[in-house]
Order: sequence, then structure tokens, then C-alpha cells
Amino acid sequence: MKKLLIAGLAAAVLTGCSNQTEQHLPVIDNIKQIHPLDKWLTSKEKSVVKGVTYYGDTIIVNKSISLPADYAPGENDEARAALNKLMAAGAAEGLNFAVRSGFRSYDEQAALYQDYVARDGKAAADTYSAEPGHSEHQTGLTFDLGSRESVKDFTISFGDTPEGKWLQTHAQDYGFIIRYPKGKEHITGYQYEPWHIRYLGTDLAQEVYRSGLTLEEYYGLVR
Ligand SMILES: [Zn+2]
Repeated sequence: MKKLLIAGLAAAVLTGCSNQTEQHLPVIDNIKQIHPLDKWLTSKEKSVVKGVTYYGDTIIVNKSISLPADYAPGENDEARAALNKLMAAGAAEGLNFAVRSGFRSYDEQAALYQDYVARDGKAAADTYSAEPGHSEHQTGLTFDLGSRESVKDFTISFGDTPEGKWLQTHAQDYGFIIRYPKGKEHITGYQYEPWHIRYLGTDLAQEVYRSGLTLEEYYGLVR
């Protein structure tokens, strides 16, 4: 009798949970409302909420998909907490990560991009910088990391530092992917950026990592 009661309670609790989840489904304009694991891994459906493009629950920003100029969520708390864990784990192995950049507003990106175009020309600037509205940094889910060898920061050589090497094999365990991998320049439109990591949550990051795909390929956005 007692067992039955417990089973009944458990069922009620479970039902309660899934009802709550259903109610939250249409509201996806806040990345902090993260859905359970099964939603992360199964939904690849496109939705656009207030000008922000999602595939499943993942915000996508790239060369062709932009964010509205007034989209300014600031640094995402969950992503920052995950980054702190990543850096602490690295430090425990003698590494020394430095955060070189994080959230960047539309206007900050516009200024930066203009400077790069003035310095290197548009064609070159476009291989390493984004037009305003197209920077993943505007999501608050992205960081650029440096190492103790700061002369290699923001260069491909960062990937050869102990920090850069560690990141290539551990980032996904803390919920991040290297967003612009080597050999995928023709898909992402960006040069290899071993320092630029994007937060996806651990389950999705590990799945994307194991797939060997870029986010564009993972969500079928490549023609
Ligand atoms: Zn970056």
C-alpha cells in the first residue's frame, strides 16, 4: 500500500514537471530558460523570436544570420559559471587561461569592425571579424581565451600553447565548443580561431564535439 502511494506520488510529480515544461516551450526569448536534456538533443527546429534565430534552443549567429541591434543580454551567467569551472580545471593542471573578451554589444562590434576594415580592408577583416549584428559575442555566450603566452593570443599559435591544446580536448566537458575549427573555414566563413569558444551546455557541446561538425553542419544550415 505504501509502495503504491509512493509510485502514485512519483507519477504525479513527473506529470507536474512535464506539464511545466510544456508551458515554458513557447517562451524561448531568454536563454536562461533551458529545457531538459531531451529537448536539447532532439529539437533542431528553427524559430525566430524578436529577431533572434534559434535552432532548437540554440541561438545561431553567423555570417548570414544576425542579431537585432538592440539585442544586448550581457554576459550569460550560466556560461560564465561554466567558464570559471573550465579555467579552474585548467589551473588545477598548471594552465593559466585569461579571458580576453566576452560579451560585446552591437555598437562595440560596429566600432571594432570599422577599425579592422580601415586597417586591413574588408575582405581580410571578414575572415576574422564580424559585421555588426553578426558577432557571436553579442549573444553573451562566447569568450575569447588567452594563455600565459599572451603574444600568441588571437593568433593560430594559441592552439599550440598548453592552454590551447587542452581546450581542444576538454572544452566540451564544460559546455563549450571551439566555434571556428580548423578545416571548416569554407563553412563558418572564419579562419581557424582556437581561442573563440561558444557555450552550448555540456550535453549539446559534447554531442557537437563528438560529431566533428560545426554548428552550421549540425543544424543542417549548409547548402
Ligand atoms: Zn571571439
